[in-house]
Amino acid sequence: MNTITLQSSIRDLPGVGEKTFEKISHLGLATVYDLLYYFPYRWEDFSRVEPIGKLQSNQTVTVIGLVAAVSKRRLRGRKVLVEIALRDDTGVVRLIWFNQGYRAGAYSEGDKLVVRGKVSISPRGFQMMHPMCEKIASDLDIHNGDIVPIYSVTQGVNTTLLSKLVKGVISKANDIQDDLPEVVRKEEGLAPLSRAIRDIHVPKDLVSLEDAKVRLAFDEMLMIHLRLLLNKKNNQEKQAPHISFDLAVMKHFLSHLPYELTPDQKKVTWQIMQDIGSTTPMNRLVEGDVGSGKTVVVASVMAMVSHSGYQTALMVPTEILARQHFKNIVAMFGESDLSIGLCVGKECLVWDNKNGVTQSSRKEFVAKLGSGEIGIVTGTHTLFSDDVVYSKLGLVCVDEQHRFGVNQRLRLKEKTKNMGEEYSPHFLSLTATPIPRTLALSLYGDLDISMIKSRPASRKTIISIFITQTKRKDAYKLVSGQIDSGSQVFVVCPLVQEIEGESEAIDERKAVLSEVQKLTQLFPDYEVCAIHGKMKKEEQESVMQEFRDGKTKILVASSVIEVGIDIPNATVIMIENAERFGLSQLHQLRGRVGRGEKQSYCLVSSGTTDPDANERLEMFVKISDGFELAEYDLQNRGPGEFWGYEQSGFAKLKIAKLSDHELIIRTRSAAKKTLDIGLAKFPGLVQRLEYYQGTEHFE
Ligand code: ADP
Ligand code: MG
Repeated sequence: MNTITLQSSIRDLPGVGEKTFEKISHLGLATVYDLLYYFPYRWEDFSRVEPIGKLQSNQTVTVIGLVAAVSKRRLRGRKVLVEIALRDDTGVVRLIWFNQGYRAGAYSEGDKLVVRGKVSISPRGFQMMHPMCEKIASDLDIHNGDIVPIYSVTQGVNTTLLSKLVKGVISKANDIQDDLPEVVRKEEGLAPLSRAIRDIHVPKDLVSLEDAKVRLAFDEMLMIHLRLLLNKKNNQEKQAPHISFDLAVMKHFLSHLPYELTPDQKKVTWQIMQDIGSTTPMNRLVEGDVGSGKTVVVASVMAMVSHSGYQTALMVPTEILARQHFKNIVAMFGESDLSIGLCVGKECLVWDNKNGVTQSSRKEFVAKLGSGEIGIVTGTHTLFSDDVVYSKLGLVCVDEQHRFGVNQRLRLKEKTKNMGEEYSPHFLSLTATPIPRTLALSLYGDLDISMIKSRPASRKTIISIFITQTKRKDAYKLVSGQIDSGSQVFVVCPLVQEIEGESEAIDERKAVLSEVQKLTQLFPDYEVCAIHGKMKKEEQESVMQEFRDGKTKILVASSVIEVGIDIPNATVIMIENAERFGLSQLHQLRGRVGRGEKQSYCLVSSGTTDPDANERLEMFVKISDGFELAEYDLQNRGPGEFWGYEQSGFAKLKIAKLSDHELIIRTRSAAKKTLDIGLAKFPGLVQRLEYYQGTEHFE
């Protein structure tokens, strides 16, 4: 044991066999260092454990005791009753469950249990009905006053095992070097790192636990800002191609559009033109609500980039969207002599003026990117696979950027630097997600931000309606009325999430197909078709195409149509079981209509009687502005919901909270200070930056 160091493998710890080690490695843990940085996600506070002898009826309390007896009986009416007698030095209490027969098998005599619940009195003494109950290792010595860490675990590794392992190596926390600049640590009054790490696992009391959380949250958020600021700084030191503005080219491009740009579109286009006219790489995020017309802004920039002889790559999160962009871009550049490419999964298409759209093998396609023959390319992340090399990549655009994580974004930058030549391409990200300022700092602190606020003047505000059961008939009347006047309709069924991957697949398909059946009966005269994520991509595409062509009138879809789909002739979107979607998703879905000049409708129906869920839907139909809706969501549900938390990479935050504005501001300034002093002076920080980076992977 005395040879154990931070770098030692967990396998070398006493009591860890090959099997246990393998299971632990599923948690991403390999070394003692990893173990120490595997923080509990909550702490059980036993500072108020009641002795059983002192219980009073109607109190909600925590007790700890040993199982003295377990019994299971079948009552009349087929109810199963499990009863456990729990004893401590002061008395006995009975724990009772109905119809949870498995409980009898889960505990046996001598087990040590932590139990929390409401005490009641019966002729046979004190009892607790359906208490929360957790088995703890009998050698885990819990005393009144203890705070016990609870770890998130995986099969075969329980929190007791983790606690034990961590406790065994906790003294090694002293070997973790605290590399936070002393000025920062002092100014912020933060606990030393090794103490914080010790206290997060084995806190003496609530105060030291709180101090530990503050310190570790600070570190976590600091790492984010350091990465963003470093990224910004690195970016500024790079050379980018100079793309000069050419009025004739712009005029020519705009003259082919069926509309005029809105003032905001013009403003943002101009900001971008100035950015790319400089030899410092642009790194800009364009924020504009759904339907505000971001695509055409990108296209106008592409026109300029191609004119200067450079390539543009437009990356999107889904194949459907990639194909849509490809079509739109081809339409906008229909008269140019450019080659335009689409690359999704295994399929590659190339368009040019002479041959139209032709298929191409991946190999040929990659060769055409490498030779510079393809000037504009759109696709999924496969655009930046290892086999792809560009000839003169001038601009990289990421659409629906909130769908990609922060780390994916930074990594993509890393990958595209010096692609082809000795310069970095300009970088443009697009998102429809409104982001409050402090949140933007921690999500996009390395970017310049532009906003498109105004929508095309021809647009009418979408009318949103909450459909109750009694109004369902009216809703269907509206649907048929719209179809009869030449419009089309989306019906969205949420993916019913089950735990197992397989049942999820079946349910998505099932939900969509049974809705198709229902609608076909309701509307025998209209073509109804289905699209869902479990269909083959080619199938998806042909369904989309038929809908785009107006052959089908009603498209029943799972949330695959959520991002970006643009079909101006669709004027109704009906969302079933809308309570299953987050507000941001609902808003994205609503943005699928109202894209043409016709009045559009968003109908939401609820499958629940939960008043909170329905109030949220009531708010959704009242608020049509994305920013306002995000604000409402932030107030009511905290960040994370609206901002695609899961995808953002912030789900990995262990302790810091995105809602902590003050922390964001403080760590931002600490990160600046640290970089001013010079990161090289803090090798431990560099190491930790690498550590954080190393634990996440770019797909
Ligand atoms: P988003 O910002 O959600 O990506 P799109 O770029 O898909 O929006 O544009 C939505 C629709 O608005 C498209 O059909 C597009 O042709 C149209 N559009 C874009 N700009 C204008 C404009 N200035 N006037 C009228 N229609 C526009
Ligand atoms: Mg878009």
